[in-house]
Amino acid sequence: MKDLFEDLNEVQKQAVSTTEGPLMIIAGAGSGKTRVLTYRIAHLIDKGIDSFNILALTFTNKAAREMKERISSLIGGTEAKNLWMGTFHSVFARILRAEAQKLGFPSNFTIYDTQDSVNVIKKVIAEMQLDTDIYKPKQVLGRISTYKNNLITVRSYFNNPELIEADASAMRPKTGEIYRAYVERCFKSGAMDFDDLLLRTNELLTRFPEVLAKYQDRFRYIMVDEYQDTNHSQYLIVKALASRFENICVVGDDAQSIYAFRGANIKNILNFKKDYSDAKVIPLEQNYRSTQIIVEAANTVISQNKEQLDKNVWTSNPPGDKIPVYRALSDADEANYVAAEIFNLKVSQQKKNKNFAVLYRTNAQSRAIEEALRKKNIGYKVYGGLSFYQRKEIKDLLAYLRILVNPKDQEALLRIINYPTRGIGDTTVNKLIVGADKLGKSLDELLENLELYFPSLGLNKAAFDKLINFWTMIQSFQVLLKTEDVYEVAMKVAVTSGILRSLKEDDTPEGISRVENIQELMNSLQGFVEEQKQLDEGDPSLNHFLENIALASDLDSGEEEDDKVSLMTIHLAKGLEFPVVFLVGLEENLFPSQMSMNTRQELEEERRLFYVALTRAEEKAYFTYAITRFRWGKIVDGEPSRFMEEVGEKYMEVLNVNFVNSFKNNTGLDSDIFDDDFTPRNRKSLKPADSSTSGISNSPKKLKPISNATIANPIEGSISALNVGNQVLHDRFGRGEVISIEGDPDNAKAVIKFENEGEKKLLLKFAKLKVL
Ligand code: ATP
Ligand code: MG
Repeated sequence: MKDLFEDLNEVQKQAVSTTEGPLMIIAGAGSGKTRVLTYRIAHLIDKGIDSFNILALTFTNKAAREMKERISSLIGGTEAKNLWMGTFHSVFARILRAEAQKLGFPSNFTIYDTQDSVNVIKKVIAEMQLDTDIYKPKQVLGRISTYKNNLITVRSYFNNPELIEADASAMRPKTGEIYRAYVERCFKSGAMDFDDLLLRTNELLTRFPEVLAKYQDRFRYIMVDEYQDTNHSQYLIVKALASRFENICVVGDDAQSIYAFRGANIKNILNFKKDYSDAKVIPLEQNYRSTQIIVEAANTVISQNKEQLDKNVWTSNPPGDKIPVYRALSDADEANYVAAEIFNLKVSQQKKNKNFAVLYRTNAQSRAIEEALRKKNIGYKVYGGLSFYQRKEIKDLLAYLRILVNPKDQEALLRIINYPTRGIGDTTVNKLIVGADKLGKSLDELLENLELYFPSLGLNKAAFDKLINFWTMIQSFQVLLKTEDVYEVAMKVAVTSGILRSLKEDDTPEGISRVENIQELMNSLQGFVEEQKQLDEGDPSLNHFLENIALASDLDSGEEEDDKVSLMTIHLAKGLEFPVVFLVGLEENLFPSQMSMNTRQELEEERRLFYVALTRAEEKAYFTYAITRFRWGKIVDGEPSRFMEEVGEKYMEVLNVNFVNSFKNNTGLDSDIFDDDFTPRNRKSLKPADSSTSGISNSPKKLKPISNATIANPIEGSISALNVGNQVLHDRFGRGEVISIEGDPDNAKAVIKFENEGEKKLLLKFAKLKVL
């Protein structure tokens, strides 16, 4: 076995060898935080700590798998296989399986994915006869999620007048009622949603001290990666489990906190020192991942955030290339540039597809990039978006499997009761649902004893027969499950239910690919069975398989060895690294996102996102933006993102003519355009491009150098005639009066007193003012 400490610098060694007591490592990107965690676990096992006593929580299950492999290769043997490692959700789902009955849930509870949850919410909203324009199902679910992640149960919600009042004044007074109905519905279906996995774990650990003691005793060494993105619920779980031995090591980077919008709480970092008064804090400063240019560019941007811990990240790597900036005429032009550049680097530097990543702010941006890569025959994989397991044919087959383990799973039952069609129509289904409600039974109970309940359901004989046939089939699968492995059972389900037959009837390319998907699912079932058999604590049950699927993150699917360009949102790229990274769509209103410019906090989160994106690059980063882009079904104009301005020319190489000039005019103006510390810049609003001025053209001859006028907002009204005392209208600040004007005509600035916004100093050529 090799000497573990050989691969580490002095500070990293210290972090790895500090195995006892609370330890926090807050350090910049690429400084080896994840590496330290990996080596620390290897070191613990090496020291003789039973892998059974180690718990490591990671951002994705894929990250956990990779860490395990690395640990195995460091220390040899099979010990690492049995480590408890994974996301919070997957680790605690596993614990809940063992303990669910204490909470009144069946141990084979179903895990609802977001789509299942939204379906339930939709039904609740419909039954309460509420307006879905006011109660948007996804939004309501988001609200419920926030409650759960802050441990606000239905009961505590209704005991808290402030919360009730907040929903009432947001014109959504029924939110609490929906919450209650949703929770009841899930409970009846024996189902937990993602947030329940954390909420219920907290409940378990609080209500049952003996359970808490059991897991405290088991997990003597606890490690958490990406600690900056834990939410309150996760924080409490870790704190409870660690409170006995206090061997807890958390690693993270406040500058990479990018999930505040989903409830992540950066205060967890600050609380650490309060919770553990003897906590050691070890900073890591040397970046091993990226070139100097990339490290310094990233430092420059993030230093503009006010809320951050001081860090000094440096690297001894070579300076590397400046970051090329490509100004595209359209999203298609941008995509073609990216594809051409990948093609060139593959030829000139023998790079492989997998050395490249294209990162974007929103999933929708992948389409144009995909098209361009396809045209050049470059293999790629899009992460996120609709995952394999969310495809209809897969969800249908999985719904059968879900019923087998948890017959109470109403979402699954309703999905397949008449799929493939077997003549059980909506009327019959509705009668069943109404009957079940009236009798206080679940649907599966009715079906199980249909002869008994039949008279009170108002069903005809034909419907009765069909239901009996359906349920007999389900029961036969359940019997099979007792003796056969999950692969065999799933095969039987696919054939006997008629799913395969009905899919095969469609011989269009789409139909064929659906059948292939089912085949792929079968392969993964087979793989799962074999994998589990090799583990000491392996669990080849269907239940476990379904749990893995429900908790697979967007990164977890897919064949990893493939040589493909990675396309993903920046959120997904956290923790990853690639030799070459294209950061595309660097436009105002896209990145930073239009939705996230209302407060300084939001803008700072966007900036952290930018920091995460840039620090994924090892050798080279590219910036691209498009001056017109197809969004929401129309062409909109785009302006370069402020983040490029913040990086500064020093680290960038601007490829297109005149960009530098317009850039220069833009830099240094912040304090002139803003007079308080944060006001969203008065950027050009998104509007359909006027074809005469949009400048879309594929012919380079027509490429107009950008002048200030094209980059700046068009001046409305006659500004040259602007005088002190004029009344003006500004599209964001509203009405105001000109107090003073200064500077030469080209760069004139005016102080304007707005009725509602107070005084602001505006550079006239950028300001969108109308003289009244
Ligand atoms: P992020 O904040 O992005 O999650 P991180 O701090 O977790 O980054 P790692 O991913 O652990 O950083 O390390 C970044 C890269 O630097 C990896 O490729 C890692 O193997 C390498 N690295 C870290 N420490 C060393 C070292 N001492 N010697 C050589 N390479 C190192
Ligand atoms: Mg990391």
